[in-house]
Amino acid sequence: MPELPEVESARVGLDRVARNKQIQAIEVYWPNLISTNLSIDEWQKTLIDQTIHQVSRRGKYLVFELDTHLLVSHLRMEGKYFYFLKEDIPQEKAKHTHVIFKFTDGSQLHYHDVRKFGRFELTSYKDQAAFFNSKKLGPEPTEEAFDLTEFSKALQKKSRAIKTVLLSQEQVVGLGNIYVDEVLFDSGIYPERPANSLTEKEIALLRTNIIQTIERATGLGGSTIRTYKNTLGEAGRYQDYLQVYGKQGTPCPNCGTTIEKIKVHGRGTHYCPVCQPREGNR
Ligand SMILES: [Zn+2]
Repeated sequence: MPELPEVESARVGLDRVARNKQIQAIEVYWPNLISTNLSIDEWQKTLIDQTIHQVSRRGKYLVFELDTHLLVSHLRMEGKYFYFLKEDIPQEKAKHTHVIFKFTDGSQLHYHDVRKFGRFELTSYKDQAAFFNSKKLGPEPTEEAFDLTEFSKALQKKSRAIKTVLLSQEQVVGLGNIYVDEVLFDSGIYPERPANSLTEKEIALLRTNIIQTIERATGLGGSTIRTYKNTLGEAGRYQDYLQVYGKQGTPCPNCGTTIEKIKVHGRGTHYCPVCQPREGNR
C-alpha cells in the first residue's frame, strides 16, 4: 500500500507533468472508482476544459487543484499514475488502466489500479475544509503541524493498541503498516501497548521519530514493496533502510535478538522483543 512518502513522491511527479495541463476529455472504464452523486457523464463534464493548476496533497489524498473544483484521488492499495507524451501513448490501454485523462496538448495521464480500491472524489474550493474534516485527518507529520501537547492529550484518551491508533490517521496522517513498525521500533515501543500507557518521554520520542522517518523516507522516494512505483516508474529506495518491517527471523540491528512477527488488529507487525518490551522500558 502506498504510504505518505510514496504518495508524496507520486505528487511531486504528477505536479511536474500535469501542472498547467488542460483536460480535454476523460475516459472512465471502471465507474465504481468514481465516488460522486453526479452521473458519470455529468462528472466528466464538470472536469472537462478545466486546467490543473497544481497537484497538492492532504495526508494520503492527492489533490488536483482545478479552476472551480478539487479532484481528490486516493490510491488505496495499488493505485498509480502513468504519464505519456503524445508520441509515447500505448496503442492499447493496459488491462488495469481504468481512467484516462486526455490533455489538450495531446499528452495523457493514465490511472492504473490492479485491485480497483482507489477512489476519485470531487469537492469545491468552498467545501474543501468540510470535505477533509469529514475524513478525520490528523495533522501532517511535520515539526510545525504536529503538536506534541495535542498528540499527548489524544493518546491519553485511547486504550487501543498504539499501532492501531497511529494507523487510524486521526492523530497524525501518513503512517501505514511499514512506517508504523519502523517508528515504534525506533522509539522502543511494543506495538500492542495501549496508547494511554505511553509515558510523556515515549510520546515525545515517538513524535520526533514519526517526523524524521517520514521526512527521510520522502527524501528517498519511499519504499518499494510489492508493486509500488512512482509516476515516473522509478523505484523508491527507502526499503534498503527498513529495520524491522519484513525482517522477521533476522537479527535486530540494535541488539541481535531475532525480529518477531505478530498480528495487531489483523495487520502483520514486526518488532524486537528486547528493544520493544511489552511492559515498556523507560
Ligand atoms: Zn533489539
